[in-house]
Amino acid sequence: MSRACQPEFGVSRPYDPQVTITPSRSVGRLSLVTQRSGDLLGGDLAIDLGTANTLVYARGRGILLDEPSVVAVDTKTNTVVAVGAEAKRMIGRTPGHIAAVRPLRDGVVADYDVTAEMLRHFVRKVLRRRGAFTGPRIVICVPSGITSVEQRAVSETAYAAGARKVHIISEPMAAAIGAGLPVNQPSGSMVVDIGGGTTEVAVLALGGIVASTSLRVAGNALDQAIVEHVRGEFSLLIGERTAEELKISCGSAFPVAGPKKAEIRGRDVGSGLPRNVTVSGDELRKAMDAPIARIVAAVRSTLDRCPPELAGDLVSRGIVLTGGGALLRGLDARLQHEIGVPVLVADRPLDSVVLGTATVVEHFEQLQKVVVDGHRR
Ligand code: ADP
Ligand code: MG
Repeated sequence: MSRACQPEFGVSRPYDPQVTITPSRSVGRLSLVTQRSGDLLGGDLAIDLGTANTLVYARGRGILLDEPSVVAVDTKTNTVVAVGAEAKRMIGRTPGHIAAVRPLRDGVVADYDVTAEMLRHFVRKVLRRRGAFTGPRIVICVPSGITSVEQRAVSETAYAAGARKVHIISEPMAAAIGAGLPVNQPSGSMVVDIGGGTTEVAVLALGGIVASTSLRVAGNALDQAIVEHVRGEFSLLIGERTAEELKISCGSAFPVAGPKKAEIRGRDVGSGLPRNVTVSGDELRKAMDAPIARIVAAVRSTLDRCPPELAGDLVSRGIVLTGGGALLRGLDARLQHEIGVPVLVADRPLDSVVLGTATVVEHFEQLQKVVVDGHRR
């Protein structure tokens, strides 16, 4: 899936400061080059706990982990059998008593225990690579629409994973910083982060969020729309992984160049036997239209709620797309066509949130005001 397109950021990749954080990404005047001085957050981690993928950045070392947010649980014994990439391979192929779960389905901690277990596993994996285990400070990002109870659950999972201190940052803020937007300046910036479970739309200025919308419609909803289309049109059952592959290989949000069709294999609704069908890019676009229209509507309504001076900045600067969903072919063109404002895709949309969170870890003093520390221990 998405990671296959970006193997260079996998966990096996050796640390390279030039690649993991590049000087070209900057927050106002703050360079993202690693600074080791003032060891406020020594051994600290920045975590993008996404609905689809979790990324962990270690201070001074770069992105050390990038794995699907999936856990395989043995329902007979109630124990975790696999986490991350290994667990994702089990989706749709597990024997009856092994369930592959996405504990953050809609951007919130749907299953606290499983999320905590997953986070603990990822944090241990990263810290083992460092050698010593001392409780790190963790800056972790959460969707902007999250309730205080949900925020507390995220914070608790990070403490349960071994953190000494947890700081929370809102996801659209992290995405904007990671995409290099000047969030600390008075002029407005708009970021649209489209993940697996949630789309976060936000207008930012002077280190704060001026207007935002958090929508529980994103990549997974597009996959689901494809599953339903294939079942309705071809009487064929396909899994969400096949639908996602189809979306990535020939899906689009606007008529743009790209592969025109793809052959997929599923199970016939009537006979139960495997069968192949060819699906065209045009019909995939139509199938995904309803969830895409909801994303467009969320962008429009956030713009409507934004003060006129800032709206003017956005028209000249443009809207920046981050998250894996930003890679959907033609989504930028579609938004630009419908909203009438320039739309750009961030350089590394799948990494924007973790890079932004990492910037907060590296420049904690200067960026402290973007941290929304709700809950203290
Ligand atoms: P999250 O932050 O919720 O973990 P991500 O930002 O990692 O989500 O994005 C994951 C979503 O992006 C998935 O729904 C995935 O299908 C989608 N995605 C990844 N690559 C592409 C692509 N090339 N085209 C369309 N969608 C993509
Ligand atoms: Mg995300």
